[in-house]
Amino acid sequence: MNSKRLKNIWRLIINPKLLELRKLHIGIKNCKQCVLHKERLNVVSGVGHYDPKVVFVGEAPGKEEDKTGYPFQGESGLILYRWIDELRLLDTEFAILNIVKCRPPNNRDPMDEEVSTCTDLWLKKQLDILEPKVIVSVGRIASAYFLGKEFKSGILTYAGRFYGNTYPMIHPSYFLRRGSKPNEWEPYLTKLKEKLND
Ligand code: URA
Repeated sequence: MNSKRLKNIWRLIINPKLLELRKLHIGIKNCKQCVLHKERLNVVSGVGHYDPKVVFVGEAPGKEEDKTGYPFQGESGLILYRWIDELRLLDTEFAILNIVKCRPPNNRDPMDEEVSTCTDLWLKKQLDILEPKVIVSVGRIASAYFLGKEFKSGILTYAGRFYGNTYPMIHPSYFLRRGSKPNEWEPYLTKLKEKLND
């Protein structure tokens, strides 16, 4: 068998989306396009399936995420994964990304320039590959990015309504700060579940 034929066989076996995502991950690991690379321990490129129904997009890695290289590792993650369970999503049906891939110092908000550099280079390409039915923008920073000029006030104004295929959600950290019970986030999940199931 010649080597060209062999290459084609590998192409069939290795999912092309996975290959593209892997290439992006390597690019993200080597990225030095903004100041956030200077203090990072790890990049946090994302987790999940390559062909998901829904992608959750958070804001930025925090301390735990920077340490481990995985998104939503702290208390906010416990709530996000609870939402995923309540939505009855299988592991093959979701992915989790962030707007920026490196931790901003002291967990400050990522600056506009950092958001535009990182999303142009990485997030847009990740979403082009993943092609989810729904994007859940988790919190203010992610929702402001996806809604663009339409986003003029706080997240509470927009959460729980669809804007195209984007569904803004209140960030889990908001519910944590308020000591919220599940009944406070349930109405937001019900609407999302309906859309995912139709
Ligand atoms: N962890 C993340 O990865 N993103 C957030 O937005 C919050 C916590």
